[in-house]
Amino acid sequence: MVSRVIPVDEFDLVIFGGTGDLARRKILPGLYRRFASGQMPAGARIIGAARSDMDADGYRQMIADAVAEFGGTHDPAVLKDFLAHLDYVAIDAKGTDGWAELGSKVRDGVIHAFYFSVAPSLFGDIAQRLKEHGIAGDASRIVVEKPFGHDLGTAKALNATLAAYFDEGQIYRIDHYLGKETVQNLMAVRFGNMLFEPLWNSNYVDNIQITVAETVGVGGRGSYYDHSGAMRDMVQNHLMQLLCLIAMEPPAKFDPDAVRDEKLKVIRALDPVAPHHVVRGQYAATEGGTGYRDDVENPRSRTESFVALRVGIANWRWAGTPFYLRTGKKLRARTSEIAITFKDAPHSIFGEDAGWNRNVLTIKLQPNEGMTLDVTIKEPGPGGMRLIDVPLDMSFAEALGPDAEDIPDAYERLIMDVIRGNQTLFMRGDEVEAAWAWTDPLIAGWEKRGEVPQPYDAGSSGPEDAMMLMHRDGRKWREIRT
Ligand code: NAP
Repeated sequence: MVSRVIPVDEFDLVIFGGTGDLARRKILPGLYRRFASGQMPAGARIIGAARSDMDADGYRQMIADAVAEFGGTHDPAVLKDFLAHLDYVAIDAKGTDGWAELGSKVRDGVIHAFYFSVAPSLFGDIAQRLKEHGIAGDASRIVVEKPFGHDLGTAKALNATLAAYFDEGQIYRIDHYLGKETVQNLMAVRFGNMLFEPLWNSNYVDNIQITVAETVGVGGRGSYYDHSGAMRDMVQNHLMQLLCLIAMEPPAKFDPDAVRDEKLKVIRALDPVAPHHVVRGQYAATEGGTGYRDDVENPRSRTESFVALRVGIANWRWAGTPFYLRTGKKLRARTSEIAITFKDAPHSIFGEDAGWNRNVLTIKLQPNEGMTLDVTIKEPGPGGMRLIDVPLDMSFAEALGPDAEDIPDAYERLIMDVIRGNQTLFMRGDEVEAAWAWTDPLIAGWEKRGEVPQPYDAGSSGPEDAMMLMHRDGRKWREIRT
């Protein structure tokens, strides 16, 4: 199988925060890989912008180091060519210096994209100055990063700030989960095959589990994370987006607003979550290791590093099928997967002794992207009619062979979509607000009740009560494993 690389049109991409962690770890190494694949045209230019005083050569050196450190294997000759496309402007988002220079570097007649890889508190300053200095026009695109707000009020304020300078059609709110190959494959599987969609409803689906598990703790993000927590940091955006793609109705066509309209309807149909359908956890200190409260340097922290919840969708397709979501840090394995468990066959012609299995469609987002469908077959051999589950396995790495290495990672794909002007995989303002409108009362509830998250051991599957959340329903979580 050969993946096709279609070059994008010429562009100038300005990365505010071009010296920051995200730019060095993800954005620039990703752009290098797109360049190496031939997708970036010869006339493309990338301009880093930040306060640090350095010249273009200094920036190229910084990015060469970043690609070497974070970009995987690279070809030194190709990297040298890539670096020739880079430039740098020292600029203070809150000041006046540097803007005229930036304006002189951004060319007419090419696509303009401005990546705001800075703290959200700077979005308004940058948007205003880009407009004041005539650098951004009606066709320019801006890319903004999460967190998009801390709650509904701040998200609305952020939307209003951006809307003062840019139309919604120019704003690309990144949720990198949407850039993953398998997430798009989820739509291809649902809407490109006859097999699944007729069964994709509460008549046939028993439950859906979405798990995003990390093995790392909060790392260096302690102070940010302690003001956020798993619900805000992961559920409101990433898990919510995955849930939308699984649950939405088929859009009439694969176009940005058609897809986002359907996702929005799902969010608006979410039932409020009852307090006994939520379990929050905090990883405890281990022997010789630190716990969450040590890591965030807040001995009384009530912020959750784990959350599990049972979610209902009040519409014709999904009423009666629970969605179980869980995410957390310092868990047993690093894995992200969606598992759709179908109901039992109505009757076993083979008798109870033959065994009783369920079809499960598992969509794996990381570490190895792919899908498996557990189907029931006869146990091979002369042992009579006994049934076993066998996975029909489609690991992308195996199915695509060496081409799998050319699958762009989420950031690469999304940046190329910005250049192509395709907003399908980006969150619209009303979607983000609807997600906060659903999340806010839940958070307000546990804050009001003064709830303390339950401790759980590092390397476990989360707190005991999370297990009970499913046991009470006669179900169990899938094992957290890679
Ligand atoms: P970071 O490492 O702290 O980098 C911040 C960048 O902004 C630096 O390049 C900094 O450079 C620049 N900057 C700060 N103040 C500025 C100002 N007044 N004018 C111009 N530039 C300024 O942060 P980050 O981790 O890269 O994160 C950037 C954004 O992405 C944040 O909103 C973050 O929440 C989001 N994000 C990050 C990650 C990640 O993995 N890092 C993941 C998801 C989302 P100077 O100090 O030289 O000005």
